[in-house]
Amino acid sequence: MDFELTEEQRAIQNLACEFARNEIQPIAMSLDLASAKENFPWELVKKGSKLGLRTLTLPPEWGGIGADAITQLAVIDELAYVDVSCSKIFSKNWTACRYIIAGGTEEQKERFLPLIRDNDTYLLATPGTEPGAGADKDTGYYDAPPGEGIMTSAKRKGDRYVINGRKHFISHGPTASLYIFRVRTDPSAPVSKGVSYMVIPRDTPGVSIGAIHDKIGWRAYPQSEIILENVEVPVENLLGGKEGYLNPGVARGGRMIEVPAHQMAVARAALDAAVAYAGGRRQGGKIIIQHQSVAQDLAECYTLIEAGRALLWRAAWADTQKGADRALSRATHIFCTEASQKICLTTLRIFGGYGVMREMPIQKYLRDALTMGHGESTERVQKLALAKLMESRFKAGMPLLG
Ligand SMILES: Cc1cc2nc3c(=O)[nH]c(=O)nc-3n(C[C@H](O)[C@H](O)[C@H](O)COP(=O)(O)OP(=O)(O)OC[C@H]3O[C@@H](n4cnc5c(N)ncnc54)[C@H](O)[C@@H]3O)c2cc1C
Repeated sequence: MDFELTEEQRAIQNLACEFARNEIQPIAMSLDLASAKENFPWELVKKGSKLGLRTLTLPPEWGGIGADAITQLAVIDELAYVDVSCSKIFSKNWTACRYIIAGGTEEQKERFLPLIRDNDTYLLATPGTEPGAGADKDTGYYDAPPGEGIMTSAKRKGDRYVINGRKHFISHGPTASLYIFRVRTDPSAPVSKGVSYMVIPRDTPGVSIGAIHDKIGWRAYPQSEIILENVEVPVENLLGGKEGYLNPGVARGGRMIEVPAHQMAVARAALDAAVAYAGGRRQGGKIIIQHQSVAQDLAECYTLIEAGRALLWRAAWADTQKGADRALSRATHIFCTEASQKICLTTLRIFGGYGVMREMPIQKYLRDALTMGHGESTERVQKLALAKLMESRFKAGMPLLG
């Protein structure tokens, strides 16, 4: 197993590092303080897009570099170290593009990928969650029966689908140009068979944005409600051209390491800040890093970060070899989320009263780490899904560990 980056990966990592330092760092704290409705950094999106950061996972024939999981991890590690929101603004596009790249028909690729490629402000969203469908919108652990889970309906009418429903908590809801919606095409079937993916451009009549959510973290990365009222799209917008949940192909190509990569980057930022603070702040006649309990906290944080990063690189490496190992990816998600939240809280405490001052980045790290714990599925549901995978591996006589 070789974790050495290639020359091309190193070049992209350096580009991301410079972009983060020069373009994100100067605005990160002010974006965090602004209201959720006013703080979307369109200029940053345009600048990043010109450098290829918006379209990193598009295959070369569609104008990207087809970045694999390791390359994505290296870029997130740089961007999210400086600001998680700005990093997510770009990385959400990479994972959302994958639905069309891995799950779309040739006609859908021809129709949608050039739109993504050619417009510096073209962003994507993947609306699944609804007021009544949270963890049970997914099939990792649940397979919600008829009447539960996703209720946004898509009814076939000749050569069109008519869609009605309401989504909420949707990342890039108010900023995306293209949505990949999860809709119920068969209300008599469970989610695994009755839910399909529908590609719906934002400017389709009947699509509107409801409330924009005001959150404690990820302040510059917007989420909103999306309302669908008698929205009509041609049957050609059914992703993959067939009804039913997408195969795990779309989970590959980096999607499963996206959240833990952000968690570890923000934890690393928190630890760097805490070591610098503890190495300068004096109490009781010595710098506080020399007080045993502070030293032990910092050593524990360091250990958690190294362990989390080792898991992450291994999960990303596995993804590039044979497609994501779903059990390993879920374990990575769980570990990195819990570790990051613990590290961000421990390091905040090391700052004493300064830890809760709004002008200090350390409190932002904790808010971002907590928000991330809810942005995808929760780690509690990840644990249930992991145990389910373990059970099925055991029943199939497969080794538990990949
Ligand atoms: C910042 C942010 C960004 C988001 N972006 C998107 C997006 O782009 N697209 C999208 O579709 N969704 C998005 N979401 C929604 C997110 O996926 C959901 O919030 C998440 O899946 C949990 O759903 P819920 O909030 O309805 O909680 P619920 O599913 O109602 O869960 C509530 C609590 O119950 C627990 N729980 C649930 N089932 C069990 C069980 N069987 N055993 C034990 N505990 C259980 C959960 O862990 C949780 O603690 C986003 C959310 C946030 C906060």
